[in-house]
Amino acid sequence: MNTIIFNRSLSILLLAAILVTVGAIFLTNKAVGEEGGRKIIIWQTGLNEAAKDELLAKHGGIKLKNLSLVNGSAVWLPNKTSEKALGGGAGVLRVEDDILVFTLGKPSSSATTQPTQTLPWGINRIDAELVWPSGNNADPVRVAIVDTGISATHPDLAANIKGGYNAINTTKSWNDDNGHGSHVAGTVAALNNSIGVIGAGPAVDLLAVKVLSRSGSGFTSDVIEGIQWAMNNNAQVINLSLGSSSGSQAMHDAIIAAYNAGVVIVAAAGNSGAAVGFPAAYPETIAVSATDSNNLLASFSSRGPEIDLAAPGVSILSTYKGTGYATLSGTSMAAPHVTGAVALVLNTPVGTYDVNGDGRWNPAEVQKKLQDRATDLGISGFDNLYGWGLVNAYNAIQP
Ligand code: CA
Ligand code: CA
Repeated sequence: MNTIIFNRSLSILLLAAILVTVGAIFLTNKAVGEEGGRKIIIWQTGLNEAAKDELLAKHGGIKLKNLSLVNGSAVWLPNKTSEKALGGGAGVLRVEDDILVFTLGKPSSSATTQPTQTLPWGINRIDAELVWPSGNNADPVRVAIVDTGISATHPDLAANIKGGYNAINTTKSWNDDNGHGSHVAGTVAALNNSIGVIGAGPAVDLLAVKVLSRSGSGFTSDVIEGIQWAMNNNAQVINLSLGSSSGSQAMHDAIIAAYNAGVVIVAAAGNSGAAVGFPAAYPETIAVSATDSNNLLASFSSRGPEIDLAAPGVSILSTYKGTGYATLSGTSMAAPHVTGAVALVLNTPVGTYDVNGDGRWNPAEVQKKLQDRATDLGISGFDNLYGWGLVNAYNAIQP
């Protein structure tokens, strides 16, 4: 009898412990505060996984994912006390908030039925269509769209998708449940067939990296893991049509690591109409502002000294979730025009732009050529609205 009661009590205790753990895992989506939340821990070098786990356990933390690219982990911590104790202790270099980032498309959208193939005005404006007759369709340049995913079933995209990953839930598909990522992907690489639209590099090899949810937001740690996955899968270009008004040292470290590994990173400047957001404001990304069909800066486009290039970002027709199409505006729509141009340039010899003499393109060399060959807008030379000017793919592929 006593044994049964004891066993029953033990079962209840075990159940309670399981519920607390499960509850804690579900709490990972809650905002950071006194009650705890998601954090990024940057470890001191030389600490092994067992030592990290031990430190975390000691402070009631739960590891959510490894961020090896920045020698960090995404974790859940129970409260501010645990954060302070862990951050001030041995083995830990820094604890930072796992801040939210958002898609940089404007909320209003108009869904369209599938047209017979039309050349979107933005692709025409950057003269990508003048590149294709030379045989350069940007194949087989690998471009990662780190975003809400890409529609796996879209007839104007599917043949170009070579792989994908869902950093939010690794057991789930990278299929796009929002539409934003599919729109961005279409501007880079919609197929040249008889339907819909055409991307700047219609034979680009796409990687669909889902780091933003159905509602278009996500954690910095998931973006870092997405960048990590893209690098492990040989991405040459990463498009980041996402951001936040505040920065993250961990995000910056991830971008520096990708840049140093030779990956070109293109980022949307933001839609605040004010200062350039992050990660676009980091010097290792190509920051893109948005222009309209009159080559004027969109009123919503962020601007500032960090802008590198301008590209079409108002009323852009592209592919959408499912098998749909939509017309969207935002610096999110401008960045993939530059990403497509980067892919086309990567398919040409580096020539006189090979500053470091290694015979291949690196991010700084690609960026310099795109800037040199851009169409100057606004005041002469560099300015805070258009950077070095409107990207031009055809000029950029000339020797
Ligand atoms: Ca098409
Ligand atoms: Ca080089």
